[in-house]
Amino acid sequence: MKVTILGSGSRGNAILVESGGTRLLVDAGFSGRDLERRLADVQVDPSSIDALLVTHDHGDHTRGMGVAARRWGLPLYLTDPTRVACASLLDGTETLRTYSSFQPVEIGSLVVTPFLTVHDAVDPVAVTVTEPATGEKLGVATDLGRATAPVRHALQGCHLLVLEANHDEILLRESPYPWSVKARIGGSHGHLSNRAAAELARELHHDELCVVVLAHLSEQANDPGLAHDVVGAALSRLRYRGSLAVAGQHAPMEPIDVTRLRALRLPAQTSLF
Ligand SMILES: [Zn+2]
Ligand SMILES: [Zn+2]
Repeated sequence: MKVTILGSGSRGNAILVESGGTRLLVDAGFSGRDLERRLADVQVDPSSIDALLVTHDHGDHTRGMGVAARRWGLPLYLTDPTRVACASLLDGTETLRTYSSFQPVEIGSLVVTPFLTVHDAVDPVAVTVTEPATGEKLGVATDLGRATAPVRHALQGCHLLVLEANHDEILLRESPYPWSVKARIGGSHGHLSNRAAAELARELHHDELCVVVLAHLSEQANDPGLAHDVVGAALSRLRYRGSLAVAGQHAPMEPIDVTRLRALRLPAQTSLF
């Protein structure tokens, strides 16, 4: 399985998952033109993508979804409430496939399992993506106010975890946001803090975990080095042997080859890459 984070943050999110000949885009929170540019940066032809799955109705996850579905002929997977909430982005010519929380969806050689999160969207989900042929498992959990028991259960046993580390609690308090926005971000239906991400990463740690990527960082209320330090400290106490990286907003990350990393069984390190 190969995973490329095309960008992550409040101005857009999209993750490309490739495995067993299937290419799946999770979220399309950039404009069609921006998505095309980011895919070109990682040498992926958009028409080679098999499907697009959208996690919730916020613009930073849906901005380019209608364009991508129409221009590249991608089947668009979304829940029914999200479809209704995003009606203005659709013109009726897209191929729509609806899914429901906790019901696995087969997309080519991949199985996507969506699970409900607490977040201030109409019907928000996080997902795991597995390839049954290899047993490789990716977990993507951003946009959640807290890690509920179903979330923690669903994310067990992942080889690659993309976890939200949205804000530092002190930087959020001192940020220039109006108090109502601070309350929303830091509330139980907002976004995970660095500290909450560290707790979740520590709970989900297991011997086969190869990579943790911190995602959806706030540009006003976080710092990549700080997020890395907080989660890295928690993982190093567990003798974590994989990598820890931080996803950015402006450019795609290097593709993460989970299959290769599993084979290598990397020595102890927690470095930005
Ligand atoms: Zn978001
Ligand atoms: Zn959101």
